[in-house]
Amino acid sequence: MGEMEEDRDNVGKLFEDFVQSSTCKGALQAFNVLCRRLDLDPADNDIFYSSLKAKLTSWKAQALWSKLDKRMLHKEYKKGQACVGTKCLIIGGGPCGLRTAIELALMGAKVVVIEKRDSFARNNVLHLWPYTIHDLRGLGAKKFYGKFCAGAIDHISIQKLQLVLLKVALIVAVEFHINVEFVKLLEPPEDQENEGIGWRAAIRPADHPVANFEFDVVVGADGRRNTLEGFKRKEFRGKLAIAITANFINRNTTAEARVEEISGVAFIFNQKFFLDLKEETGIDLENIVYYRDNTHYFVMTAKKQSLLDKGVVIHDYIDTQMLLSSANVNQEALLCYAREAADFGTNYQLPTLDFAMNHCGQPDVAMFDFTNMYASENAALVRERFGHQLLVALVGDSLLEPFWPMGTGCARGFLAAFDTAWMVKSWAQGRTALEVLAERESIYRLLPQTTTENIGKNFEQYTIDPGTRYPNLNSACVRPHQVRHLYITTELS
Ligand code: FAD
Repeated sequence: MGEMEEDRDNVGKLFEDFVQSSTCKGALQAFNVLCRRLDLDPADNDIFYSSLKAKLTSWKAQALWSKLDKRMLHKEYKKGQACVGTKCLIIGGGPCGLRTAIELALMGAKVVVIEKRDSFARNNVLHLWPYTIHDLRGLGAKKFYGKFCAGAIDHISIQKLQLVLLKVALIVAVEFHINVEFVKLLEPPEDQENEGIGWRAAIRPADHPVANFEFDVVVGADGRRNTLEGFKRKEFRGKLAIAITANFINRNTTAEARVEEISGVAFIFNQKFFLDLKEETGIDLENIVYYRDNTHYFVMTAKKQSLLDKGVVIHDYIDTQMLLSSANVNQEALLCYAREAADFGTNYQLPTLDFAMNHCGQPDVAMFDFTNMYASENAALVRERFGHQLLVALVGDSLLEPFWPMGTGCARGFLAAFDTAWMVKSWAQGRTALEVLAERESIYRLLPQTTTENIGKNFEQYTIDPGTRYPNLNSACVRPHQVRHLYITTELS
């Protein structure tokens, strides 16, 4: 074998290690090794992708490049020039933070993502709408995860989704830092000496290099407990809704593969099923979803009385926080409840029901309250201090909390990621802050109503341009003068 061929094989192997890596840390490490070997620096974000592409020419790599090249042809990206010079900080490396990061990078922005954890550990499974499947395929998801949406299956575990998106993000030169927690925004300093220094973030650990990163866009993608200030939250008070998630080990046997899934679409799919369940086990549910994915994943909404009857919840409190507080929940009884419901729901066909472990090494069963659901009143705002403007946006669960049993989280989350990218593009191109904010709010009004039925059907045409996705879009329904309160020039508290 010639020296050059051998070299190419070695590089090909490093690329393969990266593609196949199965953890967050593993992917980051394999990517670093690959970059060092190829003498490439993702900090050169404007030329990184094309340099990587030129150096990786195996058929496997090329299959991925052809997918990504096709995506990059979207005219909205202006050949990767639409946001050149824009610097973005994204808080949170969940699916929506990463999805937003990719879009901003494709427009040529400098993108830094900070993630407070150091692993992708969530077994829970997300329902994907047809457009999200199409979108992820277009990013080459199948190249990283061969089983992605095989056949009719329309779901993916959160950790696998994060991993796929992380790999794509790294390839398009997004900087990703684990173990970095956002604390708060830091205003540009007032003193003459530091004139010219822009917006930064206070982070933990404080001495991490990201502390020096100055940015003009910040995106809050840190999940339902959003840490960015200035966003009022609307609360939707529904009737009491207690959801239980449970994950069991999937040993991928033929017997397991035969068991029928219970689709999230067939909500309240069979009244008789629930009556029989109640009669046979005392478990009273409003709905149940079962997906066979990395784990056997169940999410169900349980009625309070049956949780009391089965000893899962000890005392009956009106206050749901107290009702579901750890002191008031019998963990053993909760495990039994979840297992019994899963067993009945699958007609006792799953050969074993051994709990998968969560990141703390405990059986992966959890109970959540969905009685009050939150949505941010606004999707974005602008802060200005000493002549430095900062565009502040929310995406994903931070923007609009999803109801898991209906699986809207990732689908609406990606729509918001695209809408945010569209806004950043307008911003980068010099439209006024009020115009940009007014358009963003107009588009945001559609988000809570989106369903698989009422969004555009031609997924091939989907781009970050909202007009390609929302059929009845009126992107001027909110006028600039109505969003003046979102232009904030006072000091942060
Ligand atoms: P998330 O996925 O919540 O990601 C937010 C990320 O931000 C996390 O990685 C977090 O570590 C990081 N972060 C938080 N604070 C900071 C900070 N200060 N600094 C830096 N990083 C930070 N949806 C379903 O449909 N079904 C389910 O069963 C389901 N189970 C879930 C279980 C859990 C424990 C959680 C948290 C969410 C679950 N969801 C579920 C919701 C679903 O994960 C989200 O809708 C989807 O992942 C998109 O969310 P996101 O990216 O906006 O936020």
